[in-house]
Amino acid sequence: MNILKYSEKHSAFREKFRAFVKKEILPNAEKWEQDHMVPKQAWKKMGQEGFLCPCVQPEYGGPGLDFLYTVIIIEEMARTRQTGLISYLHSDIIVPYIESFGSEWQKKKYLPGCVSGDIITAVGMTEPGAGSDLASISTIAVEEEGHVIINGSKTFISNGINCDLLIIAVKDPLIENPHKAISLYLVEDKTPGFKKGGKLEKMGMHSQDTAELFFTNCRIPVENLLGEKGVGFVMLMKKLQQERLTCSIMALNKAEYVLEWTIEYCKNTQVSGRPLSSSQSVQFAFAEMATEARMSRLFVENLIADHMEKKDIVIETSMAKYQTSDMANRFANRCLDIIGSYAMDEQCPLVRELRDLKVMPIFAGTNEIMKGIIAKSMKL
Ligand SMILES: Cc1cc2nc3c(=O)[nH]c(=O)nc-3n(C[C@H](O)[C@H](O)[C@H](O)COP(=O)(O)OP(=O)(O)OC[C@H]3O[C@@H](n4cnc5c(N)ncnc54)[C@H](O)[C@@H]3O)c2cc1C
Repeated sequence: MNILKYSEKHSAFREKFRAFVKKEILPNAEKWEQDHMVPKQAWKKMGQEGFLCPCVQPEYGGPGLDFLYTVIIIEEMARTRQTGLISYLHSDIIVPYIESFGSEWQKKKYLPGCVSGDIITAVGMTEPGAGSDLASISTIAVEEEGHVIINGSKTFISNGINCDLLIIAVKDPLIENPHKAISLYLVEDKTPGFKKGGKLEKMGMHSQDTAELFFTNCRIPVENLLGEKGVGFVMLMKKLQQERLTCSIMALNKAEYVLEWTIEYCKNTQVSGRPLSSSQSVQFAFAEMATEARMSRLFVENLIADHMEKKDIVIETSMAKYQTSDMANRFANRCLDIIGSYAMDEQCPLVRELRDLKVMPIFAGTNEIMKGIIAKSMKL
């Protein structure tokens, strides 16, 4: 009953990526978790093997593949028990801004490096006083003699330390309407006035570097404006569909992984001389979760197919982002309840999953924001 039709080329790509994961990611996942960082070299290897930015067009150094290749990478990544090599954020959320809205010279300058892994990207919207409400950002940009001067700070920025290129959302202090005051700019690492703060110590996603970024009279060329001035809001809105869809694919696969792992564990764990999986209460729990996961998969796969046909599914992707991230968290909690004392052991894979999954309802628009969008569409 699967909706997506994978060709032989897709399947061969999945096999190739699985082999890469086995060789280059799984053996290092534990070290990255301990280091709270993924070395840049790992990103480069992803790029060299052709696993970054699968959809970037050949004229900009990419392979120009369809969105199913992105789906394959996310699905396989969901099973790696690491969150630092968060390639879908780079390949499918941030880089598309450059490909869609960048000038020709920006695309020629940056996209080949994004594909090869020489350029790791980050996006800076969130600030200490502005998260869901982007209109209230206070980082400002002022034009001065052919340059743009940026002052302010950003927080909770994924790839904050590793990033070579940042897309930053800033406000023009002279424009009152906040929705017309926001612009996006490209800021290269090592630009004077751009300082990276310390890594944030998070409860989960330890291998992912998440940092504060500071801008003090940071001077960039006016040519670094991404798209048009004052339409930052509109550009961000245009890319929300893919952002939320990719998060849904990740959350769905995480939920499935958590369930699969727990089923195997319960089949192989004896309680009172019988496998834990033979208990009716455990079986019913698995039956409920398997049903929900299956229904979610059908919904998400349908959305992937619609997205590939360029349909407007912003409301539906908001539904999927909220439901799948909520489901993954519920599954992790419920599965930990089922397995007993091993649930308190750091070695238990679900412990890390529970901690890592906690962020999924928060980023890419919180689930409360998703529900607000859905409710608005219902014209209540
Ligand atoms: C690990 C991690 C990585 C991140 N990576 C990035 C990144 O790379 N780049 C980036 O820019 N940001 C990033 N973020 C920030 C993330 O996008 C924000 O945390 C998110 O947008 C929510 O903002 P906030 O935390 O300031 O919460 P707030 O917006 O202050 O919200 C606080 C609470 O109020 C609720 N709320 C807010 N507004 C409404 C409303 N209108 N209706 C109902 N409820 C509402 C929220 O749901 C939430 O529960 C990251 C965050 C984390 C934790």
